[in-house]
Amino acid sequence: QRVELVELCQDISRTLAKTYQREIRFISTEDSLYGWTDEQLLKQILFILLDNAMKYSEGKVVLQIGKNLNKLYIRVEDEGIGIPAEDLEKVFDRFYRVDKARNRSTGGSGLGLSIASNLVRALNGEIHLESEEGKGTIVTLMLPVPPEKASEK
Ligand code: ATP
Repeated sequence: QRVELVELCQDISRTLAKTYQREIRFISTEDSLYGWTDEQLLKQILFILLDNAMKYSEGKVVLQIGKNLNKLYIRVEDEGIGIPAEDLEKVFDRFYRVDKARNRSTGGSGLGLSIASNLVRALNGEIHLESEEGKGTIVTLMLPVPPEKASEK
């Protein structure tokens, strides 16, 4: 369905900021952006990504949405502990958690990113992970744009 994403992103960042009592910076290149997606599934994905960003960092967390070359992207960025290069592929696997010792305090099942990547696939989107240990993590979602209606041209 056609979903307005700027408000959706803003809502979810407010909710998480409140839960964690920590600021999330929200950036949008436009006042409104429409995606062709499922509202509930997308919220679930963003919740997982923002929750991870908060759990695995103490500094700045940024949620950014924009359009580039007719492609919609949503990006979650943190300046936290990052993910070692050798684990980057594996964090999407079910139950995989990087180094149990460092995770003990934050808890979690290792399911979040595997669920998120499956939901992204269901939405015909893409998910990309960039991370550097000790520096931070950037997760980028690419989402389909609504089909163009002749009547709107
Ligand atoms: P949960 O299922 O509760 O989300 P989880 O956070 O352990 O538990 P995933 O979301 O699947 O599970 O993440 C897998 C692993 O990837 C995490 O255990 C963590 O080591 C690493 N990870 C995920 N996101 C980040 C991040 N933003 N910064 C650093 N490490 C991360």
